[in-house]
Amino acid sequence: AVSPTTRPKLTLSNPELERKVMECLSPLVLTEDQQQKVREVFLDEMRLGLAANPERTSSLLMENTFIPELPDGTENGEYLALDLGGTHFRVIYVRMKNGRFSEEVVDYFHVPSEKRLGPGQDLFEFLADCIAEFVQKRNLGGRNFQLGFTFSFPMTQKSLDVGILVSWTKSFNCPGVVGEDAVKMLNDAIHKRKDLDITVKAILNDTTGTLVMGAYMDKRCALAMILGTGCNGCYIEKVERIEKWLGKHLESEMIVDIEWGAFGDNGVLDFIKTDWDRAVDDQSLLVHSYTFEKYFAGKYLGDLYREILLTLTKKGLMCGGKIGNLHTHGAITTTSVSRIESDTFKGLLEETKMVLNDVKLNHDDDDLHIAQYVAGIISYRGITLVSLITGILLERMQRNHCTVAIDGSLFKHHPRFRPLMEKLISEFAPGRSFDLRLAHDGSGKGAALAAAIAERLEQKRSL
Ligand code: BGC
Ligand code: MG
Repeated sequence: AVSPTTRPKLTLSNPELERKVMECLSPLVLTEDQQQKVREVFLDEMRLGLAANPERTSSLLMENTFIPELPDGTENGEYLALDLGGTHFRVIYVRMKNGRFSEEVVDYFHVPSEKRLGPGQDLFEFLADCIAEFVQKRNLGGRNFQLGFTFSFPMTQKSLDVGILVSWTKSFNCPGVVGEDAVKMLNDAIHKRKDLDITVKAILNDTTGTLVMGAYMDKRCALAMILGTGCNGCYIEKVERIEKWLGKHLESEMIVDIEWGAFGDNGVLDFIKTDWDRAVDDQSLLVHSYTFEKYFAGKYLGDLYREILLTLTKKGLMCGGKIGNLHTHGAITTTSVSRIESDTFKGLLEETKMVLNDVKLNHDDDDLHIAQYVAGIISYRGITLVSLITGILLERMQRNHCTVAIDGSLFKHHPRFRPLMEKLISEFAPGRSFDLRLAHDGSGKGAALAAAIAERLEQKRSL
């Protein structure tokens, strides 16, 4: 058995084959110099993203979330929340009593591809239908609800309840929404039905929801991220350090949505891009965008894996040169990569065999070890990248301790993520005290908390 924190190693019965495979895969191993450069580039992109008059456009949005405060224990009452971003849409009801959740109800709705790819208006009407179904089923009809809306896409916000979609990502591409306010589109769909009495109080990114939820669990939380289908992070920034907002804000701190999934869209990360990354991008729904996310997020890791195996088999370095089903986009999922990694850490080959069988590849022991090595190095690369950024943010915030709230399937199910992140972040930000905390359902419950915070801010401002 091998530890998840050690660098993946390849040992084959055929040393010549071992050398060739290692050489072919070497572009996926980040050198010290490359890591240092990623650090520098990220810092520079952050600076540009926060600047008032940047000399060029940053690939990081560094967007205002209009959330200057975290839960303070005074939250009371009932709220609804929505969570849209993956293929499941969630409607959530919560009751808060003195700042704690005293009741929670969650329903999941599958978002069919015609809603994810069809006209935007249809998508929002579908969301309103789901809310109505939920309200009916749960006997919540006839009451007014304040609602928090988690919309896990890049937005520019004009206020806590105005979010203009910048671009779609992941599996959504509905015409007619980019450049529009998602709250207005949701409100229009809700009002059209006439049977719902709902006020959308806040729109937020899933990372923001996760930070708010993280702060509910632990006051020392100041950084949150999603490691799931997509990948992104947000953190608490001092407003005096946000040059582009100078004079516009009275608050002293603000949650900033970095949108680091787009890191490198302006080419600054091309120095680590491989032909396999280009192939993954070319086959994605929204090409030439979300460079960083496509390097390892859940929507793409399986595909990256498949592309690499395709090269190895075509070169005759694996599976007798037969490619099986490797040409089929989506034939290997990120879940399969996680399963192979679990095998590696248990010293087993069973799951690995099953994954290769599923794509119709014949294999000997060397093939299985190569399959495990590939899963290891692409995971290691992704974890290194996200840990480098985390380290930078911990250094920037200079807190005595920072709890990092994390949600998402990759973090929950991929066995290398948590242990290796802990190790690498400690190396990259030496001496900084932090811990990684799973904020289960953070994006959903965080939205309900955000609605409560929005109400409180409104009351404060009207005083
Ligand atoms: C979106 C982000 C989101 C992340 C995680 C990305 O594709 O652009 O807004 O936070 O996915 O869901
Ligand atoms: Mg989500």
